[in-house]
Amino acid sequence: MPPVLYIVIPCYNEEKVLPKTAPLFFQTLNSFVQNKSVSDQSRILFVNDGSNDRTWHIIEEMHRSMPLITGISLSRNRGHQNALLAGLMEARFYCDISISIDCDGQDDINAMESMIEAYNHGSDIVYGVRSDRHTDSFLKRSSAQSFYRFLNIMGIESIYNHADYRLLSKKVLDALADYHEVNLYLRGMIPLIGFNSTCVYYERQERTAGESHYSLAKMVGLALDGVTSLSIRPIRFIIGFGLLIALFSIIGILWSIITKLFGYTVQGWTSLICIICFISGVQLISLGVIGEYVGKIYLETKARPRYIISDRIETCLDHTDAQLSDGPATETKSYSREDLENE
Ligand code: UDP
Ligand code: MG
Repeated sequence: MPPVLYIVIPCYNEEKVLPKTAPLFFQTLNSFVQNKSVSDQSRILFVNDGSNDRTWHIIEEMHRSMPLITGISLSRNRGHQNALLAGLMEARFYCDISISIDCDGQDDINAMESMIEAYNHGSDIVYGVRSDRHTDSFLKRSSAQSFYRFLNIMGIESIYNHADYRLLSKKVLDALADYHEVNLYLRGMIPLIGFNSTCVYYERQERTAGESHYSLAKMVGLALDGVTSLSIRPIRFIIGFGLLIALFSIIGILWSIITKLFGYTVQGWTSLICIICFISGVQLISLGVIGEYVGKIYLETKARPRYIISDRIETCLDHTDAQLSDGPATETKSYSREDLENE
């Protein structure tokens, strides 16, 4: 039996892009179904991430003419990572494998074939890796590369030049459902899950239309989230640095006592000011880093739903009924396929 494939695609304000790229996704999935490399139960699952343009309307319309297309819509914009997780958690009830991809046509759809092949050869995770970044702007390329290096220094396992284009088997999706963190950084979480994995290489293209939603501020935010939600190494650095400063302080104390003994106490204003400024700077940075972790703990203890699904198309109807009977449809409930059949 060929596997059921769900292609999960988060979309935020993509009314310009979808009419161009959706037919390509459709043709690709359709050809997989025709040559029986995947089951005819396979679907393209668009996740409308609270768009305020016609994105959801376009998805609904496309579903009518191309039934392989389905979708869910989130109650508001929750960001790329949450939208992607919403799609993956929805897909896991129906699929044997999922492939996540952006909707803007930057990731090469043709790499999906190699991903499925790698799955058939025993890989549960197949990472799509950009073989080169010549289409990215200088800013994007250099910030992304420094970020990967920074992640390595922070001890976070991550795949160099891999974004969120990847195949995950149902086994991995079920394991991912047990990770309840609110601060999401899927690229760092997936390698933690384990299982057999491999990489497939492709060339990244320019955006088909529209503009990137990742401003520099958002990229820095994602980087901060990635580091602080997966590693406590920054706090360890602070401890190491604190020890070093303490050592210098002892030297400073000895120096001031010795100068006092020799009667040079009027001197030293400049050095005093320098030391005060330096130490207060270090203290403020350290407090900031610790505060970032405290903030994360605060958000995690609230354990708010990471997304709320407000609409679904077709395939997910029985699932919707199950959730609505117990209040609003949120990701906090998890159902296995058997659960759904017993409802
Ligand atoms: N996206 C989303 N929610 C957001 C921002 C982006 O679902 O709040 C989607 C977007 O529609 C696209 C993918 O995430 O399919 C990647 O976004 P984008 O292409 O803007 O990022 P870039 O490729 O520039 O890093
Ligand atoms: Mg993009």
